[in-house]
Amino acid sequence: SMASPALLMRVVASAYSVAEKAATIVRNVMSAGDLGIVEKAGPNDLQTKADRLVQKSICASLARKFPKVTIIGEEELPTDDVTEDLIEDGHCEEILKKPCPAQYTGIKEEELVIWVDPLDGTKEYTEGLLDHVTVLIGIAYGGKAIAGVINQPYYNYEAGANAVLGRTIWGVLGMGAFGFQLTEAPAGKHIVITTRSHSSALVNECIAALNPDHVIRVGGAGNKVIQLIEGKASAYVFASPGCKKWDTCAPEAILHAVGGKLTDIRGNSFQYNKEVKHMNSAGVLATLRNYDYYASRIPNTVKESLVP
Ligand code: AMP
Ligand code: MG
Ligand code: MG
Repeated sequence: SMASPALLMRVVASAYSVAEKAATIVRNVMSAGDLGIVEKAGPNDLQTKADRLVQKSICASLARKFPKVTIIGEEELPTDDVTEDLIEDGHCEEILKKPCPAQYTGIKEEELVIWVDPLDGTKEYTEGLLDHVTVLIGIAYGGKAIAGVINQPYYNYEAGANAVLGRTIWGVLGMGAFGFQLTEAPAGKHIVITTRSHSSALVNECIAALNPDHVIRVGGAGNKVIQLIEGKASAYVFASPGCKKWDTCAPEAILHAVGGKLTDIRGNSFQYNKEVKHMNSAGVLATLRNYDYYASRIPNTVKESLVP
């Protein structure tokens, strides 16, 4: 058709290129060697030069193209010092060619909220666990996460010097998710994936109650949801506050686009309208398949300890 693409598809196509630029910044800051680490709430809540530069890049680039969209980024930064070299104005042509799901064709700029985690897994980034790191751009409409882009700047980093580093995964509800091979976890095996650097007694009590065959402890909400959709883990279980809306928006949209489910630990779905509280106080429970199996085994004592 000759009609111009729907706003949602233009936003996703731009977010794709903006996330690729972000990944280049993440890699460049690391290879330059000066991370500029700042403690936010404490030693397990860090910000680096990469978090700062990437947030400026993503937010300024998207705001320039879509001035009426609400954009909420993790980092508290002055917005007046964005240099032109941080701006990405490209988009992914392939995404623009795909038809927008009918229920989203009429969306206007002022109805979208974009949740940005410029660098998810900062603690792991500072410790050299580079494959845990992702860049998250989540898109919400009517309070729901409807589209998302996840870039892994160090995907393939173990494949040798000639390997192409990094990949971008994206998805839209009603359309599906792309940029990876959807794979289910081994049937009949319970592989739980959880935090590596934000554990607590409650986090571990909840996991123990699920009697898993194996527990994977890695950084990043984006990283953990990628492991769900690639069949490496069967459930992401985090019985603790600490995760925020920018951590879950993009991963949730992509997971939901392929038939999975992400909620808080009590089974409540998250809201992503611009007025919402940032903290996911009641934790995270996510699966690609068999959500009810895990949800039904979360102890009531754990649920009662986490108030949304
Ligand atoms: P993790 O699984 O520990 O990598 O956490 C996923 C996301 O939630 C990351 O962005 C973390 O920074 C954030 N997060 C989780 N727990 C905490 C916490 N206790 N304090 C600060 N950030 C947290
Ligand atoms: Mg994060
Ligand atoms: Mg972050």
